Amino acid sequence: MPEEIKRCTRCILPSTYPNIDFDENGECRVCREFDIMNAKIDWQKREKKLERILKRYRGKGKKYDVLVPYSGGKDSTYTLWMMKEKYNMRCLAFNFDNGFLEPGALAFVKESAAKLGVDLITYSPHKELLNKVYKRALEATGEFCAACVVLIPTAIFRAADTQGIRLIAAGFSDVLESPPPETSYMDRVCFKDIMKPAFNLKELKWDYFFPSWKRMFGVKQINLPNYIPWDLPSIYKTLNKELDFGKDISTVRYDCLGTPHSSYLFRERTGFGKYEYLYANMTRAGVIDREHALKIVEEREPKEAPEGFNEFLEEMGCDNSIMKDLKKKSVFNFKTRNRSFRKLAMRVRKLLP
Ligand SMILES: [Zn+2]
Repeated sequence: MPEEIKRCTRCILPSTYPNIDFDENGECRVCREFDIMNAKIDWQKREKKLERILKRYRGKGKKYDVLVPYSGGKDSTYTLWMMKEKYNMRCLAFNFDNGFLEPGALAFVKESAAKLGVDLITYSPHKELLNKVYKRALEATGEFCAACVVLIPTAIFRAADTQGIRLIAAGFSDVLESPPPETSYMDRVCFKDIMKPAFNLKELKWDYFFPSWKRMFGVKQINLPNYIPWDLPSIYKTLNKELDFGKDISTVRYDCLGTPHSSYLFRERTGFGKYEYLYANMTRAGVIDREHALKIVEEREPKEAPEGFNEFLEEMGCDNSIMKDLKKKSVFNFKTRNRSFRKLAMRVRKLLP
């Protein structure tokens, strides 16, 4: 990365990040907003709340009390381990294979589920439909990830619903993983609007849309990192000791083989990279030091098309012509769900027992 890029002195966000400004110490607005949010968190209170929730579901399912979405990455592995070993929940691990799963990840998923004595189901929708959705998302919005952003939560919900499981415990960390709201957004109204010209929507119904609100409200979802401090160094330590995880904070491996390609497309479109914001999040939260993050980003962030990029596009039925006008493409060119309705639905889901 050329030295002239101005970066936040605390996290590593570059001056190309949307609406960024730096204070007199060189710290960015995202860092300042993080501090304000963080000061309000009472972890003891949150952990008590978690225990109350789990108590309500423990021993209550037919065979399983909780469904744990399981990709084999550090966060989902730790969530599964905690649910089984610490919280004593009867778990069903659910692995979603989008066809781009790194083979090592899938092998680890199977091994570790067996080691933990947890049942595992995998769902891999056939490639033809997936590729059609990826292609349309890429051509319309400049990003193919939108397809999985909708597909994966739906698949997780369907798995819980069809197995009669009322609680989903995932390892998604908003603080560490959420993409910038200025560049990324998705809801099902938006997804429908994007897909409409390319699909008979019936084709997408099962995999991309939830059934009735009533059924949806019958399943509660929690993200474990919202309830307990997500201390990555100690998480890696536990996983290496208990499950031969074989990784640490500096081994950046992709669970999804599409990541380098999506990061490259994202950078071409927005002027900054996915690794940049992900490692900025980690640096800000204090789980990795700034120098280390910069080094990883320097190594990983694709500045030009990654190896196999054209073949990757070809697999989805696209070619290099999608790069034309890439900067004009965005999910924000499509309809989105009414904000107040969205907020209301989220509140109701949170209030669920
Ligand atoms: Zn910052």
